[in-house]
Amino acid sequence: MRALPLLLVPLGWLQVPDTARAPGAPRAHGAAPRAEAPCAHAFAGECLPEPRCGTDELDLDGLCVPTASGSGEVEGAVAETNAHIDRLGHRVVYEHLPRRQDLPTDYDRYVYPTGPGLSGGHFVSSGYDLDRPDALQRRGESLSAVGHGGVDLPEARGALVRVVALRGEVGDPAVLYVGHLFGNTVVLRHTVRERGRLRVYLALHGHLERPAPGLVAGQALEPGTVLGFVGDSGALGVVHLHYETRLLRPGVDPTRVDPGRLTDQAVSVPCDPRNVLPLR
Ligand SMILES: [Zn+2]
Repeated sequence: MRALPLLLVPLGWLQVPDTARAPGAPRAHGAAPRAEAPCAHAFAGECLPEPRCGTDELDLDGLCVPTASGSGEVEGAVAETNAHIDRLGHRVVYEHLPRRQDLPTDYDRYVYPTGPGLSGGHFVSSGYDLDRPDALQRRGESLSAVGHGGVDLPEARGALVRVVALRGEVGDPAVLYVGHLFGNTVVLRHTVRERGRLRVYLALHGHLERPAPGLVAGQALEPGTVLGFVGDSGALGVVHLHYETRLLRPGVDPTRVDPGRLTDQAVSVPCDPRNVLPLR
C-alpha cells in the first residue's frame, strides 16, 4: 500500500480576532471545522481535514497567508499563487514562495552545492521561473514540463556535489531520500530558524551521475560533505545539477510520504532557492 502524506491538524489552535490586521496581511486561522459533510478534500484516496485557510491563502505555521489576491508577507516571505497551462491544455494552479525582495537577484551572489561550472565564474544556466507569467516560464522538451522550480548548475560529469547548510540552519542537514526522482536524486531535510520559527525545507539534488557511496536516509551530513556526483540521469546529454528547495507544509511527516510525492503541492511548496541559500 502506498504511504500516504498526512496533513495533521494540531489541536488547540486559538481563534485570533483578525479585525486589526491590515488588508492582505497574514492572519492566524481558527480551529478546523468538523468534517460531517462528504469528503471535499481528498488526496491520494484519503480524506484530508478541512482546510483552515481560504482557497486564496497558504497555510504557513498556523498563519493564513494571502496568495492570489493579496501581497501578504510572513517572516519576510511572500506566498503567491501562480498558474500555467500544461501540455494537455489544463490550467495548473500552484503555490510557491518567490524571491524575497530584500535579497540579491544575482545568482552569483549565493553559495551552491557545486560549480561554478560556467565561463566567467557563473553558476546558474537556468533559474527559478515559477514567479513569472505562464508564457515566460520554461518549456521542457515537447512541453512535458512547464516552469522551473529550481536552478540548473552545469558542471563537468563527476564533479562533486556537496552539502550546503541553508541560512539559519539548525543542526546538520539529514538525508531524507536517495533514489529516483529527478533522475538519481538525493533529498536533504533542512531545519531552518527563520525569525524565531523553525521551518523544514527539502533540498533536491537531481540528475546525479550517482549518489555518494553509503548514503542512507536518516543520516546527518556536515556541510561540505560530498553527497553525490554531477551527471545527466533523467536529463540525457544535459550534464548538470538540478537544485530545488521546497518548504515542507507544516504537519507533514516527510518520512511517511511516498518519495515520488515529495514534490506534490499537498506535501511541499517550491521556494526560490535564493530565499534560503547562504550569501557568498
Ligand atoms: Zn532544473
